[in-house]
Amino acid sequence: MIPIERIWNSAQLPTLPAVAVRLLDIVRDPESEIRDVVETIKLDPAISAKLVKAANASYFGVRSEVKAMDRAVSILGTTVATSLALSFSLTDESLQVGPRAEHYKNFWVHSVVQAATAELIGQRLEPAQRGEYFLTGLLLELGRLAMLKTIPNEYMPVLEEAKLPGPSLAELEQEHLGFSHVQIGQQMMTVWKLPEGIVHAAAFHHAPLEKVLAFGSDPESRLLTAMALSAASADYFCTSNKGLALHSLREISSTCLGMGEDDLVVFLKSVEERCHQAGELFNVNLSQLQNSADLMIQANEQLVQLALREHVASTQASIRQHVAEQEKRELESRNRELQQQAMHDPLTGAHNRKFFDEVLMREVHRCVRAAQPLAVVFIDVDHFKSINDTYGHQFGDQVLKRISQIFTETIRVADTLARFGGEEFVVLVSQPSEKGVERLAERIRENVAKENFRFGSTPVKVTVSVGSAIAIPRRGETGIGERLIAVADECLYEAKRGGRNRTVIRHVMDERDRQLQQLITQTRFSRWLVQQRLVDVPSISRILLDCQTPHVQCGELAVRMGYLDIAELHSILKHQEVTGDRFCSVAVRLGLMTATETVFVLATQLEDPRTVVGAIVRAGLLAPDTATGALEDFTRTVAPPPKHRVMSLV
Ligand code: GH3
Ligand code: MG
Ligand code: MG
Repeated sequence: MIPIERIWNSAQLPTLPAVAVRLLDIVRDPESEIRDVVETIKLDPAISAKLVKAANASYFGVRSEVKAMDRAVSILGTTVATSLALSFSLTDESLQVGPRAEHYKNFWVHSVVQAATAELIGQRLEPAQRGEYFLTGLLLELGRLAMLKTIPNEYMPVLEEAKLPGPSLAELEQEHLGFSHVQIGQQMMTVWKLPEGIVHAAAFHHAPLEKVLAFGSDPESRLLTAMALSAASADYFCTSNKGLALHSLREISSTCLGMGEDDLVVFLKSVEERCHQAGELFNVNLSQLQNSADLMIQANEQLVQLALREHVASTQASIRQHVAEQEKRELESRNRELQQQAMHDPLTGAHNRKFFDEVLMREVHRCVRAAQPLAVVFIDVDHFKSINDTYGHQFGDQVLKRISQIFTETIRVADTLARFGGEEFVVLVSQPSEKGVERLAERIRENVAKENFRFGSTPVKVTVSVGSAIAIPRRGETGIGERLIAVADECLYEAKRGGRNRTVIRHVMDERDRQLQQLITQTRFSRWLVQQRLVDVPSISRILLDCQTPHVQCGELAVRMGYLDIAELHSILKHQEVTGDRFCSVAVRLGLMTATETVFVLATQLEDPRTVVGAIVRAGLLAPDTATGALEDFTRTVAPPPKHRVMSLV
């Protein structure tokens, strides 16, 4: 990147001689007459001589030799005369030799091709203005001349690179210098006070095709689209990006000028001829210009190559996208697999030991906070070694898979089954009661014992021994998870010693806790409903599985139920903070709640009667009236009467 000021501050920046400035003023003035132009040009004898010579060029097809300026200008036309005068003043002898010579020559060839094309389009669109088209076409590349003169060392490598097929000159300039000849040329034209239409058209001569096409055949934009087409024509005749140039030519000529392919071919042929004449006019050697028929073949070949490359690129891109999507899917499924593997035992599909340990830790925390019981059930296949020894390891595997299924079918959804290792499984029981765990262990044992295992046609007896442990963690108690497992393990070995195919349960809590748990279980609303014969055990069990009572702190419940007021609640909480005892124990010790009230609060905490009633009604087990009537009966007969204002039933 180089600072653009270097161009503006350079002494080499082309300037306009006084004659040219005057000429431009005259051209801008609609009232001006040929005479004004002649008089002005006559001020510069060198330019005058060149103009007379130009007027004799075959370009104008004059038969008799032109000797006088007046005649020359009238033949040339005001704008062409001005263009020539301008171009003569832009000519720089010093650039005709040395390393810049070739680039300088290319600049002129390019400009002449643009001018010739522009004039021919002008002739189609606005014959009276064709001189202006010519002039604009001639000046489009002005920025190139300025850069070649002011920053030759930086600019020449860019011009060299632009000779190769690939990015256009304007793109390369932008990339290497930070600005392009379009910008520089536009700026110079503004400073020279060229007509606005010319400056505007020059600004768009390398605009993206879509932008140019958007102007369409709109009369206001004629000069602009003509310049874009002239630029494409010069690219077609003078650069190696002939394919893209032809593409632009086709698009612009058909969209903006309504030209068909045949039209375009004829047009390009006429451009070629006009270029040679214009070259003569400007004293530019155009012998290197290829003929338009050869060019068309080359350009079409390039277009085929480009289309092929684009096709290959887009095919490759779609293949890459396909592969990426495939990889993403594979990765996702692999992730799921890994997650599954991370949490599950591959043989049986039960959770693995690691997962169980995590869940146990979480449950222990929760139960410690909520002072709720926690239970684990350990299961070990009896004489499994001999099953393996007799029927083979594979059969042993089948047995493990099947009993794991049996366990899953037997436990509740909220319980967690895991393979603890070898032929040992463990269940973490959610919201257990002592009786409930006992029954679960027994069902597990029974369901395995009555399963029909067969090795071929030989029946194989498979039994399990089950050891269970249940506990209510105390506040601040640690290691309860390990203790539960150790106790369940002891129970398991007791079951083995006792003859196998049996269950043993032990509770890890003191007698008072145990009694309290039993009382809580007995006070549960669901149990009362069964006792009243309003529902049966299987139905209410299903209901309880589906409805979860949201956890509410004992203190909050006691206040809501009218057993405590806020002041009492605060004094219990303060006391609890000091001693670390359970809420209910403190409440009883301070004489603020009776033991019966605490049991009722704890039972409600475990099983909210209103939640249960809602679920029963939703399931259609009882009519709404019957269900709410039952709730009222229960509250009246079982719940201890409130001492304070009841905030709600729960
Ligand atoms: P007990 O009634 O005292 O539990 O006797 P047991 O034979 O079941 O106990 P032991 O611990 O002696 O043997 C357990 C056997 O379980 C030994 C081991 O090879 C087998 N085992 C462990 N994991 C697998 C397994 O994934 N597949 C199979 N087929 N066998 C296993
Ligand atoms: Mg065993
Ligand atoms: Mg074992």
